[in-house]
Amino acid sequence: MDIFKEFTFESAHRLPNVPQGHKCARLHGHSFKVAIHISGPVDPHTGWVRDFSEIKAIFKPLYERLDHNYLNDIPGLENPTSENLAMWIWQQLKPSLPELSKVRVHETCTSGCEYSGG
Ligand SMILES: [Zn+2]
Repeated sequence: MDIFKEFTFESAHRLPNVPQGHKCARLHGHSFKVAIHISGPVDPHTGWVRDFSEIKAIFKPLYERLDHNYLNDIPGLENPTSENLAMWIWQQLKPSLPELSKVRVHETCTSGCEYSGG
């Protein structure tokens, strides 16, 4: 079973490695939406894979680093594309959330990426 919890946060960034004149080189912000997926068996007693509030608690320190912050200032996010953000979140969460199966990042309603490790 795969379950997920979604989070939204507001962050500013600029992309330093885009071609000259690209609009993403300019400072701008997004309302990011991130879904944290975990997979595992459904506990026959609780009926849950894991309590969603535990996922929220595990994500909280990352949320506080990301929300209303300038992503380029965060070590490891010097080039804060959605792809790099998904991999960064994966690396930060995996040690404390071994059942993590996927990180999905939406930077707009129609654009985003999914990372499943590896
Ligand atoms: Zn952007």
